[in-house]
Amino acid sequence: YGEFNQKIDYVFKIVLIGDSAVGKSQLLARFSRNEFCLDSKATIGVEFQTRTLTIDNKTVKAQIWDTAGQERYRAVTSAYYRGAVGAMLVYDITKRPSFDHVARWLEELRGHADKNIVIMLVGNKSDLKTLRAVPMEDAKEFAQRESLFFMETSALEATNVETAFLTVLTDIYRIVS
Ligand code: GDP
Ligand code: MG
Repeated sequence: YGEFNQKIDYVFKIVLIGDSAVGKSQLLARFSRNEFCLDSKATIGVEFQTRTLTIDNKTVKAQIWDTAGQERYRAVTSAYYRGAVGAMLVYDITKRPSFDHVARWLEELRGHADKNIVIMLVGNKSDLKTLRAVPMEDAKEFAQRESLFFMETSALEATNVETAFLTVLTDIYRIVS
């Protein structure tokens, strides 16, 4: 992930939203550093992480923002959403309430962000299959109705994390290029 002396063609701001403890910080750690922090307190206070990658021969810097514990309803400020061109709306597949709150997060996101923002609904912790509380069909249906991308991920096992972020980044690139 070295980024010395690189000409950056695009910087895309992506925001992570969703209830507390769904795995937003771990998804970010996995995508930006390929890490899963067992002591996740370590990521508190970090505003954003970046990762530079190549899409269609262009250098794209993804600047991914983490809520750093402001998940209480309406506590995320408009500065957080400002300039965002992508969003990962995360719930925990083992926690039904975290999925029930997705509509509220979406409403807040749509109220603050650009109308062309690319949104991925992310069902995280797919490794915890035996504890599943949200059927994949429910999420798929919601995503389809709201025109969102949808994917289940595991930050722990590194399943679909890369694909989820790349799907969003590639779609943003398609829009702006
Ligand atoms: P945040 O509050 O949304 O940022 O959630 P964190 O990233 O801090 O994760 C909350 C808890 O869920 C931590 O104990 C993580 O270790 C755990 N966690 C995060 N992602 C996964 C995952 O994909 N699978 C499992 N089994 N646990 C996860
Ligand atoms: Mg966090």
